[in-house]
Formats: sequence, C-alpha cells, structure tokens
Amino acid sequence: MAEVRLSNITKMFGMQTAVATMNLTITDGEFMVLVGPSGCGKTTTLRMIAGLEEPTEGDIYIGTRNVTYLEPKDRDIAMVFQNYALYPHMKVFDNLAYSMKLAGVAKQRIREQVDTAAALLGIANLLDRYPRELSGGQQQRVALGRAIVRQPQVFLMDEPLSNLDAKLRVQTRAELIKLHQQLKTTVVYVTHDQVEAMTMGTRIVVMKDGIVQQVGTPAEIYRQPANMFVGAFVGSPPMQFLRGELSGEQDDAFFKSEGFAIPLPVKGDITFDKRNVSLGFRPENLTFCIATENDWAIPCIVEVVENIGGEALVHARTTGGSPLIVKLTDLETIPTPGEQVKVRAAKGNLHLFDMASTLCVA
Ligand code: ATP
Repeated sequence: MAEVRLSNITKMFGMQTAVATMNLTITDGEFMVLVGPSGCGKTTTLRMIAGLEEPTEGDIYIGTRNVTYLEPKDRDIAMVFQNYALYPHMKVFDNLAYSMKLAGVAKQRIREQVDTAAALLGIANLLDRYPRELSGGQQQRVALGRAIVRQPQVFLMDEPLSNLDAKLRVQTRAELIKLHQQLKTTVVYVTHDQVEAMTMGTRIVVMKDGIVQQVGTPAEIYRQPANMFVGAFVGSPPMQFLRGELSGEQDDAFFKSEGFAIPLPVKGDITFDKRNVSLGFRPENLTFCIATENDWAIPCIVEVVENIGGEALVHARTTGGSPLIVKLTDLETIPTPGEQVKVRAAKGNLHLFDMASTLCVA
C-alpha cells in the first residue's frame, strides 16, 4: 500500500502559516495534483511529504508507516524537480544508475533497470550523453528516469514541466499521464497551472493561503466549485459572477439583478443573507437567445468579438454595466458588436454563492 495521508498538518515559518491544519488522503495509485496560486503552500506540502521540511504540527503517513520524522532517504519516495537537478559530470546512464550504485545493486540488475526506464521514456539512444548535450525535454525525461529506476512507493513532482516550452509541455503532459497509467505508482504533483491540474489529476487539491479550498476529481472541481475562489481559478476564461439578490424560497426562488430575474431553485432552508449573493456561470455554458420578455435571460450589449479559430469569445456588457463573456463553438450564430442580445445559461450550469462566506449555496 502506498497511500499518503496528511493528518492535521500545519507548517509555520516564524509567524507565517504556510499550511494550515491540512487533512488529506491520497489513495494508492492516485495521481493527485496540488494546485493554487503562488505562495498558497503547495511546495511546502510536497516538501513535508518528502521529508525536506518538518511539519510544525500533525503527522504524515506513507502506507502504514508514520514517516513524519524519517529522513527523506528512508521514506521510499522519489522527487522530480522543476530544474531536473541532474549530475552535470555524469553521463545519462550514470545519472540513472547513481542511486542503485549507492544502494549496492548488482551491475547486471542496474543495467536492466536503466534499460527498462530508458525504453519507457524513449531515451535509450541518449545514455552516452552528458546532460549539457540534451534539450530541456530530454533532460526532463532523464530526471523522470532517475526517479523511475528507484521504483519508489510514491513520486513527488514539483512543477516538472515548467521549464519546457508550451508545445513540449503539452506533449510531455500526455506522456506523464501515460507513464502513470503504466506504472500505477502514487503521484503527488505540484503545479500553479490549472490546465495541467485538470488534465493530469485523477483528483485535485485546490489551495489558497495555506488552506485547502476543495478536493475532488477534475469534473467535480469544474462543475461543483465549493466556493468563488475555486470557480474563478478553474476554466479559461474562468467562471464569471454577477452580484444580486435572491427572492422567494426553495423551488420558487429567483435570482434578481440589474433588471432581470432567473429562476434558481434552492434546496433546503436558506441560512445565508439573500440580499448579498452572486450568480456564477461559465462562458462556455452561456448561449444567446431571442430577446422576448419571458426568456429569464440577461440583457446585454455586445462590445467585442474575438474569433479564435474553432471558437469565439463574445465580450458583452449587461445593462447594469457588468462585463460578461460568452464562449461560442457554433460560429454560425456570432452576434456583432453593438447588437442588443439576451444571454441564457441552462439551470444545471448556474451556481449561487453567498457573498459573506463565498461558499456555493445552490
Ligand atoms: P510557488 O508556486 O510560488 O512555488 P507555493 O504555493 O509552492 O508557491 P510555498 O513555497 O509552499 O508556496 O510557500 C508558502 C508560504 O510559505 C509562502 O508565503 C512562502 O513565502 C512561505 N515560505 C516557504 N518557504 C519558506 C521558508 N523556507 N522560510 C520562510 N517562509 C517560507
């Protein structure tokens, strides 16, 4: 079992809380991505799992072992960093073989392990080269290979793709997913890039200010954001919000704002302030509809249309002056700048947030 469990983990640097009372179970074989803006505590969390940082409070388990105070070398983990950290004076073969040599593994076995990893990563033809003779993408594969040959219980990766150019990043992203499908080893992966998180993670932890905001599958994070931060962090363009108020109760509730009203059923009792809410919706879930009075739609005026090949971003403004973006994939129906339009979102794609707590309440 290579489950990783963080139990009530807090990390203070002096008076500053880098990670606050974090509880998280990463199940065996999972690809768990820690994502959030700079300074949210994701690297600190990874370093605590690695043993490079000691938690101020709480315990860390790998499998059934409490590893909180174990040295990194005794945790059965392998790390891949952003800067690869290859040994410059060693050829690729020796970079890959190094940890096994140290551990006294037999020569024949080392050869086999290196060959297997090199074949898996497509670097078998590079074993005689020095790191300086490799491209960034190739160096990154060697760094991965060095982690793989150790056959650890857990891979810890800190922004391993961030030094690659955009095209190579997308390609390597897919290769990493494939690699994980083959090896089935638990991965904890840190990134600030929400696209990387959404495409790679079997589950995602969204963090902000040292606090876990939500843990879920990419679909859960995208479709049911726990709060406004998560809604606005994921998606491109992200979720947009309109301030307003709620009238009515349960099945007869309406969101009202800026001269329009939209039915928005609320389950259970309303415990939040109905006068201080926001409606959240994603640009790709909006459509234009015919401007009749009973549409339950948002009246807008189109300002700018960006046609980006297979899709268009229509920048509009509500009658109350709020900006609103509609993402269209049906390019037959693009409105033109200056046009008065109405915008509608299907009920299942509307989210209601309590402004006081920022939590999603319907
Ligand atoms: P980034 O994406 O920029 O790497 P991050 O989410 O990984 O950010 P951390 O590096 O974990 O964030 O840092 C969390 C907080 O802890 C930050 O406010 C940072 O300044 C602080 N911090 C991290 N390491 C130290 C340290 N060694 N000493 C003091 N403060 C630190």
